[in-house]
Amino acid sequence: MSDVTGTGDEVVIHLNHVGKHYVRGGEIVPVLADIHFDILRGDFLALMGPSGSGKSTLLNLIAGLDQPSSGQVIIDGVDIGELDDTALADWRAANIGFIFQFYNLMPVLSALENVELPLQLTNLPARERRERALTALELVGLGDRVKHYPSELSGGQLQRVAIARAIVSDPTLLVADEPTGDLDRKSGEEVLALMQRLNETLGKTIIMVTHDQKAADAAHAVRHLEKGELSALVINQR
Ligand code: ADP
Ligand code: MG
Repeated sequence: MSDVTGTGDEVVIHLNHVGKHYVRGGEIVPVLADIHFDILRGDFLALMGPSGSGKSTLLNLIAGLDQPSSGQVIIDGVDIGELDDTALADWRAANIGFIFQFYNLMPVLSALENVELPLQLTNLPARERRERALTALELVGLGDRVKHYPSELSGGQLQRVAIARAIVSDPTLLVADEPTGDLDRKSGEEVLALMQRLNETLGKTIIMVTHDQKAADAAHAVRHLEKGELSALVINQR
């Protein structure tokens, strides 16, 4: 892949003049205008902006959950707009770990079963799936909660289960939409420290939407989205 920064760093996500609008009741709702930027492998980027500015829309495009109206989303050299639905679902399962504000865990499944769920789509043997799910739960510090159901866990623990589920397939990219938005300060800090650790020790590339400055400070750099346009990169000082 071409080196656009001149630093020799590897571009993992390239948004090539991406535009996005929705059509509602015959009217066009413009959301993103000409978004053009790169994310390098190993980056931890925070995306901020007012409510309704298109942060989730942009994240969903990067995660292959939605398609741009114009331009291309190119990840690891793959133009994901070129993939049909089946190929896109396979691509997502292998490459993207998604972390949601409200965890999106299955209430009838234990922590272990929730984390194992993405692996059901693979042809790994059952024992291997279980072992990987256990390893992921241990990695997020929940090795002693594997049999608990979501109703038996705190908000911070639920988000850590969701993070274990996001990393169990060992994806390149983690995308998180307001991951601390529903958490108290202490649980939020734990989740952010965990994300930093996944970035630093496992080399995960992370894009995190947040409206919390504290959360954004945990990233390497911040971009602001306003009126469909993205600001220049602001590097966080350490
Ligand atoms: P944010 O995450 O920054 O709060 P969103 O990306 O969710 O913003 O939404 C950006 C804009 O796009 C909002 O005006 C929202 O109403 C609109 N929007 C989002 N999803 C849809 C959709 N599926 N259909 C129509 N409009 C949508
Ligand atoms: Mg949103």
